[in-house]
Amino acid sequence: MDSAFDVIIVGGGAAGISAARRLAANGSSALLLESSSRLGGRAYTQDLGGYPLDLGCEWLHSGDRNAWVGIAEASGFPVDRGDPPWAKAHPSLAEDEDDREAAWKAYGDWEERLRTVASGSDRASDALEPGGPWNAYVRAIAGFMSGMAPEEISACDYLAYDDASTGQNWHLPLGYGTLVAASLPSSTSLRLATPVQAIDLTADGVAVTTRAGTVRAGAAILTVSTAVLASDAIRLPAGTEPWREAAAALPLGRNEKVFLEIGRNSAFGPDTHAYGNLRDPRSASYSIRPNGWPIIEAFLGGDGARILEEEGPAAGFAYVSAQLVALFGADVASAIHPLAATSWSRMASIGGAYSCALPEQSQARVQLARPFEDRLFFAGEATHPFDFTTAHGAHDSGLRAADEALSSLSQRQFRPVHAFR
Ligand SMILES: Cc1cc2nc3c(=O)[nH]c(=O)nc-3n(C[C@H](O)[C@H](O)[C@H](O)COP(=O)(O)OP(=O)(O)OC[C@H]3O[C@@H](n4cnc5c(N)ncnc54)[C@H](O)[C@@H]3O)c2cc1C
Repeated sequence: MDSAFDVIIVGGGAAGISAARRLAANGSSALLLESSSRLGGRAYTQDLGGYPLDLGCEWLHSGDRNAWVGIAEASGFPVDRGDPPWAKAHPSLAEDEDDREAAWKAYGDWEERLRTVASGSDRASDALEPGGPWNAYVRAIAGFMSGMAPEEISACDYLAYDDASTGQNWHLPLGYGTLVAASLPSSTSLRLATPVQAIDLTADGVAVTTRAGTVRAGAAILTVSTAVLASDAIRLPAGTEPWREAAAALPLGRNEKVFLEIGRNSAFGPDTHAYGNLRDPRSASYSIRPNGWPIIEAFLGGDGARILEEEGPAAGFAYVSAQLVALFGADVASAIHPLAATSWSRMASIGGAYSCALPEQSQARVQLARPFEDRLFFAGEATHPFDFTTAHGAHDSGLRAADEALSSLSQRQFRPVHAFR
């Protein structure tokens, strides 16, 4: 590899793919280098048991202003605008309704107290009511949202996401990962299984090194996760220390999923939801028979996801199976079978679920999004000021970085030596 492109994109997740789309629309040449053997990154749909299940992003959050909705519809992907399963509790759990309402109100009260904390310590745990009866539930929901314990969450950051969310959660029956991976323009040059090892500045752009050689371009867009950026996996030019420090202030939280197959004739109601245990901070949230499929999807966050990270998939299956038996009775034990479990935290090319600003570190997102020397541009969910943690935030950050790179190339009147399209 020794050719020149307008832009080299590092990472083929939602941010890298949307940057490629913007560059292609502008007629610019781009090379996308992806370390794994597939596109999509944290957007990953796998056919499991015959169903397209999303191991990473699944919900088109803020669906009424989510760029992937338009991309889906333009590409013929159906979009389901119905209520998400968590809007409909499984009917056999009706007797817990009072507790669920009390727990949900406690979570709302905690969020309100976060506003005061945001202007003080900024540590989200300071908004917990001392000895509060529903603190375990608040911890679990914060774990779903951020993958972190409230002690490690910036209140300011948490509220920025919440305030910007429109509360519309739509769904892609063919899979979010399917859509993201299918959205790379055909004009983008792609190298899978090609981890970038180093990026250097050159007189007129960048030199990007992989084990296959060094390739040059006018600019690079770096979209890897904050866990990868904060590590030494990619050698960056001297002077980029503030970007690595910003990435370290925005660590990835823990979120994992466990999928179970259930007997077709089991008593589980379709498109419903169950919460494992309102008093267990590790508790999973269960989507029961999504789309009517004979599947249960357990979503774990924070300490719950730690079970999978530290003890492995068998421990994860055991934990969620025990919760389901406690909820629905011993008879369900023979109807549920392990199908798959994720391990995002253990994947070296990702290293967790999504970014969460540590207390007093919410400004790190602004630092992380800054261009370096007008050559190196940064995208990825963590760089978005309020839609961080999401695939649509990653998408919009990719557009932003591509526009910055295009503006820099045009000011420098950069022309690649050879452009392979
Ligand atoms: C369990 C889970 C559930 C989620 N649920 C939702 C949801 O419902 N809705 C939602 O909007 N979001 C959700 N998210 C978050 C969403 O998936 C991410 O925010 C988004 O996909 C991140 O995209 P990205 O492009 O910023 O990063 P990534 O997808 O991480 O892309 C970065 C890419 O860089 C590659 N890479 C790493 N190192 C190198 C290297 N050295 N050289 C080349 N390439 C490299 C990686 O392999 C990866 O493909 C979820 C995430 C998880 C884990």
